[in-house]
Amino acid sequence: PASADELAGRFPLTPNPHPADDDEYARIMRELRFGMDFTDHMVHAHWSAQTGWGQRETRAYGPLTLSPAATIFHYGQECFEGIKAYRHADGSIWTFRPGYNAARFAASARRLCLPELEPGDFEAALVDLVRADARWVPTGEGSSLYLRPFMIGTEPHLGVHPAAEVDFYCIASPSGPYFATGFDAVSIGLVRDYHRAGPGGTGAAKTGGNYAASLLPQQLAAEQGFSQVCFLDVTGTYLEELGGMNLFVVGADGSVRTPRVDTGTVLEGGTRHALIQLMKDEGIDVAECDIALTELVQGMASGEVRELFACGTAAVITPIGRLACEDFDVSVPTGELTRHLYDRLTGIQLGREDDPHGWMYKI
Ligand code: PMP
Repeated sequence: PASADELAGRFPLTPNPHPADDDEYARIMRELRFGMDFTDHMVHAHWSAQTGWGQRETRAYGPLTLSPAATIFHYGQECFEGIKAYRHADGSIWTFRPGYNAARFAASARRLCLPELEPGDFEAALVDLVRADARWVPTGEGSSLYLRPFMIGTEPHLGVHPAAEVDFYCIASPSGPYFATGFDAVSIGLVRDYHRAGPGGTGAAKTGGNYAASLLPQQLAAEQGFSQVCFLDVTGTYLEELGGMNLFVVGADGSVRTPRVDTGTVLEGGTRHALIQLMKDEGIDVAECDIALTELVQGMASGEVRELFACGTAAVITPIGRLACEDFDVSVPTGELTRHLYDRLTGIQLGREDDPHGWMYKI
């Protein structure tokens, strides 16, 4: 992609006349709750079917005024992304593979009949927002500025059709670790009665409806003490992914498997993609394939499965210690490869290790 200096200024800044005061800023940066506090600014661009992408700006963070008839409220015409900005030890600010998220955002937009935002504009939005709000990029293990680009249909029209007016925004939230338990293993509830996606549906797109569909099974699992759920394919045979993370299985022979994504029912995570590359670099045998639940459960019970972990931008790499449902309850200890990949990936992201694939992008 073009450098940040080349892209900067596409979303010109009108500074927030009332930025967070010193006390509020200090409190937010001390607490670093995940996704609950927001920076002083947001990026915005408007699109209309007649004129395409028009006005672009970086302006004060604040409430939106929308028509109650806007398509987003009725038909969920929306897509979003999640990407982090990291502060390195020398104070510089970097993000991880913005081109990957730009391409996935465009693919989600196509599936939702939303206009594509050109990758350079997606990256420029991150650059302009992070430069305006640089003081909000925290330092410290597991901390980052979480960036949330999103696009919504805003045309006021109750007919079911693609909106002719669309708005793109990017907001930012200074954040600490996603799971309060840090690198401790999580318990996952296997879901049989609900699916997040089906063939031909929107599972491969990052769109709000997929997450809305996951809330009830997630809530039911939480009542039983699980911190996340794992979904199966519609036949109830194969593993797909967690509510917001992809899944990896490490065998006793050191080989690694992850559910395939060419079914169109799984979100192809950027973290998943990067980990596959890092494992290949190290000569690890890693396969994208069908993984049957029955085989995983037997493998966890017999020791054939040595490690299980989940991955995603928000939660990075999280060991899975236990997988359970009404008819089984199996556990694995946190393994060496999980810990190694966590160190390797965060080492690259925090600028502590070399970046052989040029994944880091300086803002
Ligand atoms: N699956 C789902 C359903 C997700 O929401 C996420 C988080 N974006 C992921 C997987 C992991 O994707 P990524 O590594 O790009 O964050």
